Amino acid sequence: MTALGGRPSATPPPEATGGAEAPREVDVVVLGGGVVGSSCAWQLARRGRSVAVCDGDPTRGAWAVAAGMLAPGSELRHGGEDVHALSLAAARGFEQYVAAVLEDSGASARTDLGHRRTGSLALAGDVDDRAVLDDVLELQRALGLSAERLGARACRRLEPHLDPGIAGGVLVEDDHQVDPRRLVAALRTAAGRRGAVAVRQDASVLVEDGRAVGVRLPGGREIRSGVVVLATGAWSGLVDGVPDDALPPVHPVKGQIMRLAMPAGDPLLTRVVRATVRGRPVYLVPREDGELVLGATTEDAGFDRTVTAGAVHDLLRDAAAVLPGTSECELVEVQARPRPGSPDDLPLVGATGVPGLLLATGHARNGVLLSGLTGQVVAGLVTGDGVPDVAALADPTRFRKDSP
Ligand SMILES: Cc1cc2nc3c(=O)[nH]c(=O)nc-3n(C[C@H](O)[C@H](O)[C@H](O)COP(=O)(O)OP(=O)(O)OC[C@H]3O[C@@H](n4cnc5c(N)ncnc54)[C@H](O)[C@@H]3O)c2cc1C
Repeated sequence: MTALGGRPSATPPPEATGGAEAPREVDVVVLGGGVVGSSCAWQLARRGRSVAVCDGDPTRGAWAVAAGMLAPGSELRHGGEDVHALSLAAARGFEQYVAAVLEDSGASARTDLGHRRTGSLALAGDVDDRAVLDDVLELQRALGLSAERLGARACRRLEPHLDPGIAGGVLVEDDHQVDPRRLVAALRTAAGRRGAVAVRQDASVLVEDGRAVGVRLPGGREIRSGVVVLATGAWSGLVDGVPDDALPPVHPVKGQIMRLAMPAGDPLLTRVVRATVRGRPVYLVPREDGELVLGATTEDAGFDRTVTAGAVHDLLRDAAAVLPGTSECELVEVQARPRPGSPDDLPLVGATGVPGLLLATGHARNGVLLSGLTGQVVAGLVTGDGVPDVAALADPTRFRKDSP
């Protein structure tokens, strides 16, 4: 089950070529044209590198259903401090990232990628959920985040349509959001305008004498390159040609998510809400065009893309417990996609034991947020311009068997 109403789910990249017209040689081949691969391609092309992006189905990635929360504050959990540090660095650079993508995509300053600084409200369904929220609040404060504890009434003053039964919440002012579909469309256009070529085929990595030297397309044609960037999301552990000891330990984490349409002229919600209802997490992301994204499950179900009645029921029930008006909304779309999970929830961005092969994968729940920073790191490694210190947290060598 996919789109229920008339809205498009995701647009393919502009001007993609088939294998026959693919370039024979470039500086860098990026495998995977999702949000991470598109950002890498754009930032490499921006720094003057010739780039080809191979992707056999550029609409199948997790980005096409992602909610677009940029929420290092409300995502914070005990034990997740490194993920938080990386997410915070990405969030701080996001405004600049969006502005540069817009400029390079040729869009006017008024073209909108849905980037909003509305903050987010973490809500507790009952007193037990409230205790969990208070625990996280302590951690948020210890890390210097601006997080404010609010009673139920104060929450309803901010968002009048919330259920009167909620047990209070925490307002995180610094969280923001973007529309991932608009962001990816703009990234692809920007990369194309900078000369990157989109090839509509999956590819395998070509390794000669222990070094990555390009990729092979299904018909046997090769694209030779000095660098190959593996940005194939949840599929990263399956790409042919990558030597076993360089294959990233990335696994698919299924997420089911839906899109509703709020009644015209009556926004039920103005900021992102993340709620815990009897221990179960649910989030609601309102957009200015009336879309309300409601998600998401976290399932160990491989690449299964089935939308299940149980997941739809649970999400709608928990959302209605927080925001009763959701029951009256039109149900526009329900989808399931695999997130690229990693063993420690941190991405893998950087060099491998195979010279010429870089990883840009394993972004789990934060790939949209981390896409700009990841592209910056990959471009910095390829050009030798240097990378931000925080990138050390994502260094793939932490998983190497010979790593100390
Ligand atoms: C329900 C849900 C909600 C989410 N919400 C958020 C959110 O609010 N905020 C956030 O920051 N993140 C969110 N995410 C996570 C985010 O979507 C992912 O982390 C992000 O999409 C990862 O980007 P990627 O480019 O690595 O992978 P993807 O977006 O999955 O793209 C991978 C691409 O690789 C291609 N590919 C695969 N194999 C090959 C091959 N052999 N050759 C060439 N191409 C290949 C695929 O076709 C695909 O296009 C969400 C994810 C889900 C599922």
